[in-house]
Amino acid sequence: MHEVRGSNPLMPIEIKRVKLSFRHKTWRTRHILWRGVECYIHIVEVEGSSPSAPTIKWSPLGLKVWDFAEGIKDEEQKLLAIDLKSQIHYLVQLQTLDSEIYALKSEKDAKPGEVKALELAFEEKKQRLAALEKQLLDLQKQRKERELELSVKEEAAKKLQGQLYSLKTNKEYQVMLLQIQDAKADGSLIEDKILELFDQADKAKAETEREKQRLKEEEGLFSEQKKKIEERVKAIDDRLAQLDAQRMQAAPSIDQKIYAQYERILQSRDGLAIVSAKNNSCHGCNMLVPPQVTNLIQMYERLITCEVCNRILYIDE
Ligand SMILES: [Zn+2]
Repeated sequence: MHEVRGSNPLMPIEIKRVKLSFRHKTWRTRHILWRGVECYIHIVEVEGSSPSAPTIKWSPLGLKVWDFAEGIKDEEQKLLAIDLKSQIHYLVQLQTLDSEIYALKSEKDAKPGEVKALELAFEEKKQRLAALEKQLLDLQKQRKERELELSVKEEAAKKLQGQLYSLKTNKEYQVMLLQIQDAKADGSLIEDKILELFDQADKAKAETEREKQRLKEEEGLFSEQKKKIEERVKAIDDRLAQLDAQRMQAAPSIDQKIYAQYERILQSRDGLAIVSAKNNSCHGCNMLVPPQVTNLIQMYERLITCEVCNRILYIDE
């Protein structure tokens, strides 16, 4: 009968289990280290049911102990302080894990963007090669058109040449001679153009070959960088799994209400919920922490937050 005044069955258990039991409200008689002395305590909702040792109750801030021999209030305050101090200690430990988790998640979130940028840069290079190849084809096409044009002109000059001796008058002869000269002159201009197009096509071909080689090297580099990013994401996932496991172990030490407050701040303040207020400054937003606030933090009566960034403040001791 644990809930009957004075009953105190001796059921030793580790202090760690006491806290867990409190959390789940399995109220039982427990064994606890209190002020460095091992004692059996009786945890009940009725004060004074355990005359041989302090009665312990659960409060939102932690364990409350009533020591009837020394007065209830002082001891309650002392234990509250001790407990809030340890809660802050657990929060700081949790924050160390969460800071790493937040940094890794941010890094991981940026990775798809990095891959996209690499793909875009590579795609641009591919397009540059495609443009060079098209330019080469255009030059070859223009040359073929000019060659066709030249053969037409040559054919015409040849035809006129054939007709030249069948002409009756000297005037007709002179006119046709001029026409032949014009056709030949046109042909000569076209020939120059063809030579120029040959020259341009050679240069374009060399440039295309160089670009192809460059692209091949770029492709190797691109695959290498992409692989590196994939490997990094895998390493981040592995580390996150480790950190999550550590977090699962660390979180139950923290009171649910305090944990909920911490989580809220963590979500809204870039993964940083608890910060040192060393040297009268908030290490979250660098704003001034007045001495009276520093005093409040050190009293450990309640959680104190920064008035500017709303993060929980603590003092390194
Ligand atoms: Zn702040």
